[in-house]
Amino acid sequence: MRAPAPTLAGLHGCDQTRPLYSRFSALYFRTPAWLKRAARSAFASRQGRLDGLIARYLAFLEGAPAGDGRPVPALLTHDVDTAAGLATLPRLLAVEEGLGLASLTFLVTHRYRWERAALAPLRERGHAFGVHDTTHDNRLAYLPPADVESRIRRAQEALGPLDSGAFRAPAFLRSASLYAGIASRVRIDFSTNDAALVWPHPGDGLGSPFPVRYRRMVVAPTTLPRDGELLALGLDRDATLDVCRRKATQLARVGAPLVMLTHPDPTFTDTTARMETYGDFLAWLKSDIRFRLLSPAETLAELNVRATVELAA
Ligand SMILES: [Zn+2]
Repeated sequence: MRAPAPTLAGLHGCDQTRPLYSRFSALYFRTPAWLKRAARSAFASRQGRLDGLIARYLAFLEGAPAGDGRPVPALLTHDVDTAAGLATLPRLLAVEEGLGLASLTFLVTHRYRWERAALAPLRERGHAFGVHDTTHDNRLAYLPPADVESRIRRAQEALGPLDSGAFRAPAFLRSASLYAGIASRVRIDFSTNDAALVWPHPGDGLGSPFPVRYRRMVVAPTTLPRDGELLALGLDRDATLDVCRRKATQLARVGAPLVMLTHPDPTFTDTTARMETYGDFLAWLKSDIRFRLLSPAETLAELNVRATVELAA
């Protein structure tokens, strides 16, 4: 079986349809959390049986050839979509710090109040920061490239010395225009999955678990199932750990990096129980020699080295 090949169509999200909430962003943020969760569950159940979704998700790498057997890097990332999420972030980071780990957090720079001075101590403890849009109105991918670029510039200027050059688009919504707009400003992009479990639709993404080069950027796909997807599917602790471990094992076998996304926002990884499950998964990763958990700065450098395939512009 051939190794999965990265595609420009997957990078741009060419088979995505523009979701309604990207036109009316109030739908995304002003809906009560419980209703959003119920809607997500209904959406997920429409996609077919749970077992079928997970089987399809894991089938993506099943036939791919084995890698060189070296340990694979693991990068922990967070998107902070809301003020409540920012308030909860230190608790999530404390779970990592308890295991001697650190992570990369993407901030929405002009949506909620935050202060560089408050984040500086987190950076001193090894955590890194990047851009997750200015407002998260889910319209970024549908703007002309010049407008995309000016938003990213504004966000990076707000982060100032905290900016690692990393970026993730809101809701994994991508377009050719988005990539044209971010190409001159972003060093490493995390806006695509390898092949998504549920959103924007099952299988959405680059079509490869390996980082690639596109124009001047590294594009590193998010390769583990996301917390919002696992929660929408209603998976309990054991089922969550099972699918995460199985995907991580596949990634180690093919020699691809682990990139994990969790949110501290309400309805995501914001409860003690969910944070404990996250900690259990991290402890499992840390105890296994197939995975390398370095600082986010070191892992970003490692992803850069590993991005050897060039996508055509
Ligand atoms: Zn987000």
